[in-house]
Amino acid sequence: MENRNDHRDIWVFLEEFEGQPKQVGCELLGQARRLADEIGQQVGAVIISPDARAALALAHTYGADLAYVVEGEAYRHFNTDAYCEAFAHLCELYRPEVILVGATANGRELASHLAVMLEAGLTADCTALSIDPETAIMSWERPAFGGNLYARICAKTHPQMGTVRPGVMPLPGACPCENMQIVYEDYRPKRVRVRLKEFIRDIEETGMSLQDAEVVISGGRGMKGPENFKMLEELAALLGGTVGCSRSVVEEGWLPASKQVGQTGSSVSPRIYFACGISGAVQHVAGMDRSDAIVAINQDPHAPIFDIADYCIVGDVFEVVPALIEELSPDA
Ligand code: FAD
Repeated sequence: MENRNDHRDIWVFLEEFEGQPKQVGCELLGQARRLADEIGQQVGAVIISPDARAALALAHTYGADLAYVVEGEAYRHFNTDAYCEAFAHLCELYRPEVILVGATANGRELASHLAVMLEAGLTADCTALSIDPETAIMSWERPAFGGNLYARICAKTHPQMGTVRPGVMPLPGACPCENMQIVYEDYRPKRVRVRLKEFIRDIEETGMSLQDAEVVISGGRGMKGPENFKMLEELAALLGGTVGCSRSVVEEGWLPASKQVGQTGSSVSPRIYFACGISGAVQHVAGMDRSDAIVAINQDPHAPIFDIADYCIVGDVFEVVPALIEELSPDA
């Protein structure tokens, strides 16, 4: 889709789960506002849903100037064909300059398929976004070469598309747009090749999600085995948080991939992050260094995790964690 001179709005896809918009949508609306102000254009929220009300309220709260809505039963559950067709239809009609999508499982699927449909470039898992005020060309920043370098990528195609993982961008304050314009488009998808027969909830997903948790207690290979994560769960319960882990733990089969923090896992920014028996490899740090406070427990005083930790505890996790649990227990 080559047409840089049409509209130059910055669009954000507001993904929903069970009728509720995901927080990454707010995070991206904050970025979209900043980018749109740089080029003197508007922020558009894209809502594809059986019932757009909750997402419209969020779009309004976080300052979208416009909301593009495609409503219908076809969109009750995420379906790549249906969502991409509807999204592409909106793009044909209203020609955005930039499209931002949360890098959730569904967001990644949507963005990559949509990019193919629109013959547009897509930069995945961006960690910083900027735009040239003159040309409106985006500079998408993302880790490259296993996290050892940061690459700045510009797309020659149009619209310019990128995904950003949940928790990477700060949550903006509310800034309601008093006269948000709502554009309803009636669109029924024509070529839906996959039909959802049953929705089976992942047991892990029923707990507090890593991205929403205010306290994350992560364990690494230093935890020695899956049975020892019980004490991290105990500590997490006392602090009202949840358990995460390094990739080594997932590779060992001790915890599921949904618990992995880092470049190829989740990005988190809790109020407190505990790294227990985690060395602090760059790929792990990329997913947690935006935490407000980092507490590291490691027996190796030279472990790289101590370079970014606010509180460094040189010691054995099997002594330090039980001591913390004892200290925090109500009956202590
Ligand atoms: P180790 O590096 O083995 O560290 C274990 C630590 O535990 C050591 O520092 C040791 O001193 C300490 N320890 C041992 N026993 C104790 C004890 N009793 N008490 C206290 N401390 C103890 N990793 C991620 O985590 N997330 C990612 O998303 C990710 N993505 C990657 C992507 C790519 C492309 C690549 C190449 C790698 C990626 N990795 C990722 C892997 C990463 O490079 C590291 O290998 C991994 O993070 C190491 O995990 P770890 O710290 O648990 O294990």
